[in-house]
Amino acid sequence: MENISDKKETLYKIANNLFWSWDSETRNLFEKIDLDIWDKVGHNPIKLLDAIDDERFKNLFEDDEFLHLFLNVSRGVQNYLNGNTWYKTNYPNENKLTIAYFSAEFGLTECVRIYSGGLGVLSGDHIKSASDLGIPLIGIGLLYSKGYFQQALDKEGWQKEYYIIEDFHKLPIELQRDENNEPLKVKVRIAGENVFIQIWKINLGRTFLYLLDTDIEINSKQNREITETLYGGDIETRIRQEIVMGIGGIRALEALNITPNVCHMNEGHSAFLSLERTKMGMEKYGLSFNEAKSLCLQSNIFTTHTPVPAGIDVFTRELINKCMKEYYREELKLSEDEFMTLGNLPNGLELSSFNMAHLAMNSSMYVNGVSKLHSIVSRELWADRFNGIEKDDIPIGSITNGVHLKTHTASNMQKLFAKFLPDFWGNDLYKKDTWNSLTDLPDNELWEVHNENKNKLINFTRQSVIKQSMDKGIDISNIDLENILNPDALTIGFARRFATYKRATLIFSDLEKLDKILNNQDHPVQIIFAGKAHPQDHAGKEFIQAIYKISLDERFKNRIVFLENYNLEVARYLVSGCDLWLNNPRRPLEASGTSGMKVVTNGGLNFSILDGWWDEAFTPDLGWKIGDRENSFNSDFNDEKDIHDLYNVLENEIIPLYFNRNEQELPNLWIEKVKNSISELSWFFNTDRMVTEYFNKYYIHALKNYNNILLEKSLN
Ligand SMILES: *Cc1c(COP(=O)(O)O)cnc(C)c1O
Repeated sequence: MENISDKKETLYKIANNLFWSWDSETRNLFEKIDLDIWDKVGHNPIKLLDAIDDERFKNLFEDDEFLHLFLNVSRGVQNYLNGNTWYKTNYPNENKLTIAYFSAEFGLTECVRIYSGGLGVLSGDHIKSASDLGIPLIGIGLLYSKGYFQQALDKEGWQKEYYIIEDFHKLPIELQRDENNEPLKVKVRIAGENVFIQIWKINLGRTFLYLLDTDIEINSKQNREITETLYGGDIETRIRQEIVMGIGGIRALEALNITPNVCHMNEGHSAFLSLERTKMGMEKYGLSFNEAKSLCLQSNIFTTHTPVPAGIDVFTRELINKCMKEYYREELKLSEDEFMTLGNLPNGLELSSFNMAHLAMNSSMYVNGVSKLHSIVSRELWADRFNGIEKDDIPIGSITNGVHLKTHTASNMQKLFAKFLPDFWGNDLYKKDTWNSLTDLPDNELWEVHNENKNKLINFTRQSVIKQSMDKGIDISNIDLENILNPDALTIGFARRFATYKRATLIFSDLEKLDKILNNQDHPVQIIFAGKAHPQDHAGKEFIQAIYKISLDERFKNRIVFLENYNLEVARYLVSGCDLWLNNPRRPLEASGTSGMKVVTNGGLNFSILDGWWDEAFTPDLGWKIGDRENSFNSDFNDEKDIHDLYNVLENEIIPLYFNRNEQELPNLWIEKVKNSISELSWFFNTDRMVTEYFNKYYIHALKNYNNILLEKSLN
């Protein structure tokens, strides 16, 4: 039995490093232990292992096939942890760098519910790529006990929100303790009260993510609730969360003996970190306030994600005073106006409110938008900050988002690529040459694997429809399962946040036309929708309801389905199983968008407005566009044109191409486009490329600045 307990311990070790969330072989191991339980526990390996008794483990390890897989996976994890990396190769002597990457949400895997959507998935992908590249970057965020809301629709198609309370002790996550084995705590002062914070750690491959948690007994009820929900509280909860994340985050790192020399703010939520870094610079290195501010400024990176002012946190002077007066007076020794200035235009005279994007930009030398187009829009949005500077010279750079390919590419597709290029999934995914030979993939195999995933999506959708109907109290005996969706139909996916600018109902503008398109006998088409509306977004919920109602219409029944509770799992089925990914936001409101990138390596094609990433990715040989490069910030000026274009391209180009089959029954011209899309887009629109770009453009310079300032100080 002893041997078993060693092996069991190894399994827990493997489970406690989220490397499994992007390594399909490791996930396969968990599936092999017990697929039913794995599904039932929401793909949480700790809960899975807890549910297996020793007798079962014994039987498993007596099975040669399982044992072989287990040994392979253990070796794989070790090889990963000890392997050579981009960073080791390029910076063999740089051992001082520590980058702290702050984000309000991290989308890592479905059982760790501390994300809502695109921003979180991007943060998760960023840190996973940092691990793959060997870059010394750690993540900081909040550990929400209830996370983001779960979505269910009622019988009328109206979105209902509910929360699941997380038991952190059943997650692959570990409470940090001090030398007395007590939970390690730091504190911040908010509104005259102590707020204590404990710290949890997630192992992510070669790196870590630290998560802050105020839900401890010594805190008041209000303060315990600071880390309860993601984007769920009121404006005061929001500022309290941001104080905990920014100021508490730097203190937590200090308590862990980590002094980051580079800080990256993913969106403005964490911008208070600059205050605490400045204070630390004064205390630790004896710098003046201005010197310390400069140290912080020159080693901070700020990434903005919104093209509109409404997307930014702005706090009133009252709220700032209520929550932070003690901090800015006693710790920073600033007057009220001096402090308010930090959250305003550099020469701002109007100090009635405090804007987190201004704070972030006032304290970051390196600022960027998340696509080429978004950085142009951002330069316009923030032009007031740069009076007298030509638009093109405004120092807001551009680093286009990407996706973590191993996380978002289906495992059978990964295997197919590896079959033709054995070393494919190594360290060179961001190099164009790596992808060139993928055009040699045999059409039939590529098509077969894609259709395998399409069938998985259809099955998943059918099961979900049954479950969703039961939850609504609908009699399921009348549901003809085999009739829900058609494996031969061109399958369109539309899944994203239901913000109104994304125009989820655009394709329903002409129902008669849509009826003709979807119900064509020879060329059937179907659409799967998913996505949540923010609990306060009434108009977004109306869009969802409209789609739900249309999906019940006799003409569209079983051809249009709304999948509830969009999350990383639902997304995985959708991006790997759809033939076509539709995105029709109002240009230029989609800063980047990333779900369309996930579709690429899964063998789907994009059909989108020329906004965000697609504005720089699109060429006619690898996908389709809707409309032209015209902006329509907040009017419905372009709707008519876009609707016309959408139907026209769908009817006259996309559908004919999909159903055009050669003598082997393959849509060879469609497949050619898929291959173009994979080989021309994947090397660029991934987070390995993105993170190396952050490294080369910003991180390495920020480190030099930091070291130089401290060196000069010590020489003086
Ligand atoms: C990728 C992803 C997103 C981001 O998609 P966008 O195209 O940016 O809207 C949102 N939610 C989930 C669950 C995702 O996987």
